[in-house]
Amino acid sequence: MKKKGVQLIKDGRRIDGRAFDELRPIRIEVGVLKRADGSCYFELGENKVIAAVYGPRELHPRHIQDAKRAIIQYRYNMAPFSVDERKRPGPDRRSIEISKVSREALEPVIMTEFYPRTTIDVFVEVLQSDAGTRTAGINAASVALADAGIPMRDLVTSVAVGKVDGEIVLDLNAYEDNYGEADMPIAMIVRKNKITMMQMDGKMTKDEIKKALKLAKKACEKIYQLQREALIAKYSEEIEREEQSDEQSAQWLKV
Ligand code: UDP
Repeated sequence: MKKKGVQLIKDGRRIDGRAFDELRPIRIEVGVLKRADGSCYFELGENKVIAAVYGPRELHPRHIQDAKRAIIQYRYNMAPFSVDERKRPGPDRRSIEISKVSREALEPVIMTEFYPRTTIDVFVEVLQSDAGTRTAGINAASVALADAGIPMRDLVTSVAVGKVDGEIVLDLNAYEDNYGEADMPIAMIVRKNKITMMQMDGKMTKDEIKKALKLAKKACEKIYQLQREALIAKYSEEIEREEQSDEQSAQWLKV
């Protein structure tokens, strides 16, 4: 949106060889942290993020409690080593903004009314970045919340779309984000077709936005499936392990 004079599209392909509507490779692992109530590792191309969920737990100080529901606290943090140019540790305007919009993206699916006076804390740590970290963080956080057993209406899924060399493209990398014309991260509840976050850096026409949203929706459907599969895989493995350990205990008792 920013710098000009770099060719980002050649012969119908993007700088990293992707088609306009192609996502970067995604890897999702559930339950990667022992001490968290729920956790998820999410890889999106060169982006690597971890989400950890703690709670619901009693909220202190008491005067910030909500007598009717749990409050969600979301902290997005970028590790100093996650970017090309070392990032100064600690919160800044950008991370405070991302934490706010990410929390608001997830709130509609969390049944906070079940846990009055508590907090549900979500920590998102970016270990490596290549644009799209807020979307990767939301995807990871959504899965980590489910892994923590927090009652949810559905998962939230997120992806960025944008405009590069006049073309509408999906899931921008850092080059495209830096040198392209627009970047539009969105989050949605796929099955309800409901958008819970929509931001825009740069400029697109009304028709371009419509086209971009269509692209984002299709991509979110794919990511949503991967989120579900990752959760199902973890819990199927767990049931299998439990069954094996039950069998083992039964054998020991026989001896
Ligand atoms: N970035 C960086 N240093 C910073 C902030 C961002 O190098 O202090 C890079 C990083 O790779 C990030 C990308 O710029 O992923 C795009 O940042 P943006 O603010 O658009 O958020 P994101 O796309 O990661 O959600």
